[in-house]
Amino acid sequence: MIRIDGSTQKYCLIGDPVKHSLSPIIMNKLFYEHGFNSIYFVCRVVKNRLREGVAGLCALDIKGFNVTIPHKVDILRYLDSVSEDVLKIGAVNTVLNTGDQLIGYNTDWIGVANTFKQFGFNRFGKCVLLGAGGAARAVLFALEEICEEVIIFNRTFARAFDLASKYGDSRCRVTAKKWKKNIIREEMLDSDLLINATSIGMDGVSTPIPKEFITGNQVVFDLVYSPLNTPLLSNACEKGAFVIDGLWMLIHQAAAAFNIWTGVYPETSLIREYLEGMMKWRDTA
Ligand code: NDP
Repeated sequence: MIRIDGSTQKYCLIGDPVKHSLSPIIMNKLFYEHGFNSIYFVCRVVKNRLREGVAGLCALDIKGFNVTIPHKVDILRYLDSVSEDVLKIGAVNTVLNTGDQLIGYNTDWIGVANTFKQFGFNRFGKCVLLGAGGAARAVLFALEEICEEVIIFNRTFARAFDLASKYGDSRCRVTAKKWKKNIIREEMLDSDLLINATSIGMDGVSTPIPKEFITGNQVVFDLVYSPLNTPLLSNACEKGAFVIDGLWMLIHQAAAAFNIWTGVYPETSLIREYLEGMMKWRDTA
């Protein structure tokens, strides 16, 4: 049981929509397991009410909060300072309220980096990255350290181009290409990593690329975590690729946020087991 009393510290997630977020399950479990008198809940804050939302959180003495769609970029306006990685990524997903300052961090890229570390991957040759939204920005920041080359494909080419141009002076070669099936197929042939950072697959039926584009030698990482086994991952599995689902990134980014708020780095394998159990229970309830 979570104890709630006059000294309970409050944390939350702001965004829209937030109803299906798994963060309260993860964070409340972590607070409980580590003996903190703290709670975590979600607050729906619509796009044009972010300023009031942030003022409200400060007035209520919320100690920290996560930020999701559509506020990850706009939140920057209301922060006193940000970590160095945020300057390049341009998006914040975790805020610490020190009492007189709001400090912004990005733990999404840590979620990606620690997921690869966990599976023992520390170097890739060529990566095909699908998507150029908020998540893709964080992914690319993590990939810069471990890939020789990244090809970004995005439905709206200008977004892919803008993202790639931020990495013009990087050791990792980053190129934007048009979202055309024949070009994606060609780039996939000699790539050893495919990352889906689009929202395609969330409906449980769509896949961003056909099964035949996947070679059995690739690592395929889908950021989508609901459903856990997306059509892309199930195709990749059938082709013999090494598959990684989005839940790992979610867990690792949450662990890093928990560390920013509490100074404790939690054990992630225990969170996964608990979360999968809760997801099964939620789906059948
Ligand atoms: P954004 O809204 O910022 O970006 C969405 C991306 O998906 C854009 O690149 C968009 O392209 C692309 N896209 C959407 N629909 C289509 C389509 N029909 N065809 C082609 N491209 C499409 O969202 P985020 O970047 O924040 O999130 C992307 C995904 O990553 C979501 O599924 C989200 O749940 C997941 N995610 C997972 C996390 C984790 O911890 N596992 C963390 C954060 C996100 P365009 O630019 O053309 O619109």
